[in-house]
Amino acid sequence: MAVSGRGPYDPQNVFAKILRGEIPCRRVFENEYALAFHDIAPQAPVHVLVIPKGPYVSFADFSQTAGEAEIAGFTRAVGHVAALLGLEDSGYRLLANMGVTAGQEVPHFHVHLFGGAALGPMLHRP
Ligand code: AMP
Repeated sequence: MAVSGRGPYDPQNVFAKILRGEIPCRRVFENEYALAFHDIAPQAPVHVLVIPKGPYVSFADFSQTAGEAEIAGFTRAVGHVAALLGLEDSGYRLLANMGVTAGQEVPHFHVHLFGGAALGPMLHRP
């Protein structure tokens, strides 16, 4: 079910539980700013989620309230993960759903990283 993307932060959301090690993930990369892991229901040959370590509900929350070091550290981590996955030559797509219109389901900011095949049009056209 889609969520609003505006607070308050729910510490029981599934990505908060992954960050605390309460539920497992297929980890790709981790540092002080970010954790990257394979999406449980991949929509491309490569579908990895990159999440900040801090408690941010959405991109809106992250971009407005995270510190400069967190924003820089997280952004660099996303680029690092793409390189780690060998996607720089073939290319990749980043996507962040914020709120109901975008269909955000997990209320912890995350960037989807897609690659490994031609990804088609940017948006679904009904
Ligand atoms: P969004 O719609 O942008 O909020 O995307 C949430 C994503 O989280 C979906 O692609 C789900 O497949 C993924 N997801 C949900 N639970 C898990 C989990 N336990 N481990 C990995 N990915 C998950």
